Order: sequence, then structure tokens, then C-alpha cells
Amino acid sequence: MKKKSKRLTKKILFILLFTVFIVCVAGFIYSYVSYNYYSPGDGEIKADPTELKYFQNSYKECRKEFILSANEIKNIFKNVEIFNIQVESEIDTDLTIDFCYIPAQKEKSKLLIISSGVHGVEGFVGSAVQQMFITEFLKEKYLNDIGILLIHGMNPYGFKYLRRVTENNVDLNRNCDIDKNLFSIKNSGYIELHKMINPKGKVNTGSLGNRLFYIAMIKKLVSVSTKAFRQAILQGQYEFPKGIFFGGNDFEPQIYVIKSALQEISENYHTIFHIDLHTGYGERGKLHLFSVKTEDSKSQSIVESLFSGYTIDWGNTDDFYTVTGDFSHFIGKLSPDALFLSMPFEYGTMNSHTTMGAIKSLQNMIVETQGFYYGYASIEDEIKVKKKFIEMFYPSSGAWRSEVIKKTRKLMDVVMQRYKDL
Ligand SMILES: [Zn+2]
Repeated sequence: MKKKSKRLTKKILFILLFTVFIVCVAGFIYSYVSYNYYSPGDGEIKADPTELKYFQNSYKECRKEFILSANEIKNIFKNVEIFNIQVESEIDTDLTIDFCYIPAQKEKSKLLIISSGVHGVEGFVGSAVQQMFITEFLKEKYLNDIGILLIHGMNPYGFKYLRRVTENNVDLNRNCDIDKNLFSIKNSGYIELHKMINPKGKVNTGSLGNRLFYIAMIKKLVSVSTKAFRQAILQGQYEFPKGIFFGGNDFEPQIYVIKSALQEISENYHTIFHIDLHTGYGERGKLHLFSVKTEDSKSQSIVESLFSGYTIDWGNTDDFYTVTGDFSHFIGKLSPDALFLSMPFEYGTMNSHTTMGAIKSLQNMIVETQGFYYGYASIEDEIKVKKKFIEMFYPSSGAWRSEVIKKTRKLMDVVMQRYKDL
């Protein structure tokens, strides 16, 4: 009798262990497949061909279309200025930041600056939004007392060569300030993660390390909070020139050369409102209003009123982060006497608010940087890495692109009217 019950217990234990084993294997396969074949879709949204006319597929085409649309309004409004500033480069003599400035036509009181391509490869979407804005929003009712400055392709190298960073691997949105103290900022959280997020050697996308990257990251997330982890990586760093989110050891050439043009235009206005266009972060298909709370309560409450009714993702909430050396605050610092308002637009692509999406986005950036410095194990690896990288910042989906234009138009209809009435 005793023997029988012992056997029964053994059997139950075996079944239990076997079930646990099966559940673990199934869980592993599920996570492995969902991570390695990760591809957020657009659901029911359909592409709208009328919106797609604003999108092009090379830096040169985007620049050409931007200048063409700018030239079309030259005859409609007074004193429109279209000019460019060349960006110094060791490999290319045809890298320019292009500007279109339409001064307020009656009383110069408020300026709106819309900039694109601070992160080079994000310039495609930024350019499309700027082209739409020129075509659809430059109307007399706004321009009587609002001046408009459009800055196209702040990082033309990254735009042309499909990188997020500049020629010196600098994240331009971590490189802007009016004094060089920026470069002595220490990011201790990043130092701890450096080896893990900046691997050396040729990229082999099929390696176990790459395929199981998410497990290593999840293990790390168990010991550090997601917020602290996100903040440490994304904030920016000034110590590892070949690392991701490197903010430089000096200002990039365009930061030096753009200053006087910006100051000259801005000095005529008492209020400056800057919209910087970005892609890649956040929920796919959503236009995130991604701002940082400032100590200037007046400007913050005006920003809140301009976007009233819309969700603002303040940098200090759980899914978002703050950065050092961003372009928008630099513009504000250049005009200390003006009331400065800032609202970066971020068009989500990878669902990076989810753990899988965030890890995938991070890995896309890691292997792209690693490939740039150390090369690839095969041509297939290179194609795969670059394709995923571009897809993250400039999705090929017509539905996604159509949504960008539709959502921006809808929002700007409201915001332009409110800014005019301010
Ligand atoms: Zn960006």
C-alpha cells in the first residue's frame, strides 16, 4: 500500500515537473519568436495616397521639394527669405541646412520655428510635415503677426547617409548649449551599462548574444527600475565617442554656424514657439507631445493652454525621459529676453512604451552603431540591420505615413489658431 502511494506521489511530481518544463519551453519559444520577429503593425489604418505626396526617399529629393514648396510662397508673402548654411564635412561638400523664413507681415510679435532632421534619418518625416505645413498653413490670417521659420535638415549628414547621428557619431539633440560645461556632465548610470550597450566586433545578427539580447536586458531590468534604466541610456553621455547617445566633446559645426542666423531672426519677436520634429519613440502611429517641465511656470502654462485637450508626455513620467543638450532649449537660451515655448513632436513607430518594443529599439541602435565602427559578419547582416534601423525612424508603411500627416494637420489647425490668439 505504502509502495503504491509512493509511486503515485512520484508520478504526480513527474507530471508537475514536466508541465512546468513544457510551460517554460513554450514561454521561451513564445518570447523568442515575438522578440526576434517583432514587427508592430498599423491595424485597421489605411494609406491615403493624397497624404503620401509629401514623402520622398532621399535627402536630396526632400531638400529639393522643401525648397520648391518654399519658392511657391515667395510670391505670395513679402520679404520671404530662402537660404542655406553649409555644414562642414570630411566626406561630402553638399550638406546643407535649408531655411525658409516668412516674417510676420504686419506686426512682428510671435515667431514659430519648426525644425526637422536634428536626428538625421528622422528628417524624412520632418521634411514631409514641413512641406505639408508650407502648403496648407501659410495663410494670411496667421502670418499677419506670426513669423515662421522652417529649418530643414539640421543634421544633413545623418539625413543623407541614413544615420541618426552626425559624422562624428554625435547625437545632435545632446550636443546643444551656449557654454561648454555641457561636455563635463557625467552620466554614472550609463557608465555601468557601457559594455553591454556598446559591444565591439563585427555584427552577427544570428549570434546567440543578439538573438537572446532581450533576456540579458530583462535580467538587467530586474535589478534596476525601467525608468532608471531608460533615463541612464537615453539622457546622453559625453565619455564614450563610439557609444550610443554620445553628445560630443565639442559643439558640432552646425551649432556654431546656426547661432547668428537664429539670433538675428528671433530678436524681432517677443515670443518664440519651437516645434522640433522627431520619430521613433513611443506608441506606433501616435503623435506624442513630448516635453519637459521647466521652472518657467509662465511658459509652461502657456504651452499647456496651446495643447489643452491633448495629452502631453512630460519627460518625468514613467515612459519618458529627460535629456541634456537638446536643440530646443538651446534655441530658448539664444533669446533670453523672449518668452520661449517648446513642444517637440515625436511620431511613435516601435511601441517603445512596451518592454519588448523598448528593448528592440535599443538593440536596433546598438547594432547599427556597432556595424558602423566594426563592420558586419556578412552582407546579409548589414542589409538586415540597416533595413530595420531605417524602418524604425522612417516606416515604409503608407498607412503610418498618412497618419503622420493627418494627425499633424488636425493638431496644427487647433494650435495655430490658439497661438494666433495668444
Ligand atoms: Zn529624434
